[in-house]
Amino acid sequence: MKNLLIFGAPGVGKGTQSAFLAEKFSLSQLSTGDLLRREIAAATPLGKRIADLVAGGKLVSDEIVMKLLAAAMAKTEGGLILDGFPRTVNQAEQLDDLFATLGKKSAAVIYLKLDESALLERVVGRLSCGGCGAVYHRKFMPPRVAGKCDDCGGELGHRPDDNPITVKTRLAEYRQKTMPLLEFYRNKGLLKEIDGDGTAAEVSARIVASI
Ligand code: AMP
Repeated sequence: MKNLLIFGAPGVGKGTQSAFLAEKFSLSQLSTGDLLRREIAAATPLGKRIADLVAGGKLVSDEIVMKLLAAAMAKTEGGLILDGFPRTVNQAEQLDDLFATLGKKSAAVIYLKLDESALLERVVGRLSCGGCGAVYHRKFMPPRVAGKCDDCGGELGHRPDDNPITVKTRLAEYRQKTMPLLEFYRNKGLLKEIDGDGTAAEVSARIVASI
């Protein structure tokens, strides 16, 4: 059973492509962003501690993210697609250890690439379902009924961190802390570099052809 990792700047389409790959290859999709937002929405003690960091576009500590991910992973069976994780070299090293204890390994790391101007347009037009987390875009991927999720009928809204100012911080965090992962996975021979421009279906086809 394959375990895939998907990697790229904010707004590049990780969530959309992960959902597609999860369906196509019967994988469990685990998004650390979704796990963190769930804690925040439920106002758990952890959620309260991390709310400001996430709202400001800063990365949450490796320790917190690892704990959440390991707990979520324990509830899955079969192959995984990890969406938005790892985001630091330390997380990647800890993931290797966690996978080793579970008898799993990473089969491929999909790196979605896109120009910064296109990223910004994708992020500020993004709509997310408050119910199931499905992702839409006002212009590029509108829902069938305005404001409603196609999958679960939930209300669609803007993530508070999907604004031009916070995206600048998220991009800076990405460049500084996440980009070094490219070398890490390139050296392991796992990196698949995919052009993230075009429609979701076009990008999906490129990914499938590469893995
Ligand atoms: P995402 O939904 O992947 O765009 O993540 C939204 C926010 O959650 C990020 O801007 C971070 O604040 C936090 N986050 C998500 N995944 C991680 C991670 N692997 N490590 C640290 N922070 C994360």
